[in-house]
Amino acid sequence: MQKKHLLAPGPTPVPPEALLAMAMPMIHHRAPDFLPILDSAKKGLQWLFQTKNDVLILCSTGTGGMVGAVTNFLSPGDDVLIANCGKFGERWINICKTYGLNVHEIVVEWGYTVKPDQIEAELKKNAKIKAVFIQATDTSTGVYNDVKSLAVVVKKTDALFIVDAVSALVAHDIRTDEWGIDVMISGSQKGVMLPPGLAFVSVSDKAWKMADVAKTREFYFNFKKERENLAKNQTNFTSAVSLIIGLNTCIKILQEEGLQNVFARHEKLAKATRAGVSALELKLFPKESPSFALTAVEAPTGVDGQSIYKNLRENYGITGAGGQDKLKGKIFRIAHLGYTDTFDIITAIAGIEMVLKRLGYPVKLGTGVAAVEEILIK
Ligand code: PLP
Repeated sequence: MQKKHLLAPGPTPVPPEALLAMAMPMIHHRAPDFLPILDSAKKGLQWLFQTKNDVLILCSTGTGGMVGAVTNFLSPGDDVLIANCGKFGERWINICKTYGLNVHEIVVEWGYTVKPDQIEAELKKNAKIKAVFIQATDTSTGVYNDVKSLAVVVKKTDALFIVDAVSALVAHDIRTDEWGIDVMISGSQKGVMLPPGLAFVSVSDKAWKMADVAKTREFYFNFKKERENLAKNQTNFTSAVSLIIGLNTCIKILQEEGLQNVFARHEKLAKATRAGVSALELKLFPKESPSFALTAVEAPTGVDGQSIYKNLRENYGITGAGGQDKLKGKIFRIAHLGYTDTFDIITAIAGIEMVLKRLGYPVKLGTGVAAVEEILIK
């Protein structure tokens, strides 16, 4: 027998209370008993997104929310600016190109953040830019962009500020209304602690005005129709009933902890993870601003990052993640996102120590764990 430890940057572990709630007999999404459930999910998401704006609930993965964020507010030929900091920055580019937008790209070396003055310079150079797209955390590199400072520069213009917070929501304190984020996207299988299958999208008044003139046609991810339905505590098509019931349970768990405590927990777990890998003389992949959602670690010279990831899973039941694309084999990633606490990090670092030793990397067992414990004992 081997116990499983899911420490991937999505899907993440689901609390047993939510699993139980989702096992309740099915109810009909148009029947009166579902309406208060959706109402509660709607309000809970506004709390989590720190917004008074509508937060749409879509039956899709996070990418569906990203597609809708492009198609509902923009028209073919529109100029858009994308900060490309990794694999998910590339996803913005691919989506925008698919819908015929004129993409201006800021290429950021993987492991670094995009800087506000880079965005500001592009916006000054091209007054036609209608939207700026970023990742809060690009999960492929484990870097957190300074959303707050980036919002300041975009807010000075007419452009929409569109943030992919698929992996950053819950781990980072992102203040949608206070900072002026027009569209923010997240997904259920990350910090929200649910199985995959829901995307959430907050939309500002400025964005709804753009939706009135956008010419791209959208059938499934039709945000205006979703908004009309949300006002009636419905979704446009069949609601993902069980996931929405589970969502209420997960939000209740987070509310009981308190939003600032949730962020503090993620920050502490991230710091402990970094201390653990540094004690093992491993290097963090992010060169600046590592995310609180996950830690990306460089594989030591001569050791394949994929074999660390594979050995963790096969020998110890710990599922983290390897590197994506050009980082495959070069890094491995451990998430501390959502339903995670002290002993998940101790497990992860203990597993890494044992795997490295098996792979012939010189390691004194217990060194990383001791560093983690020093931080998490408090
Ligand atoms: N954006 C980021 C930053 C992500 O981490 C992910 C998923 O890993 C996505 C977008 C895509 O989400 P999904 O796989 O749910 O479509």
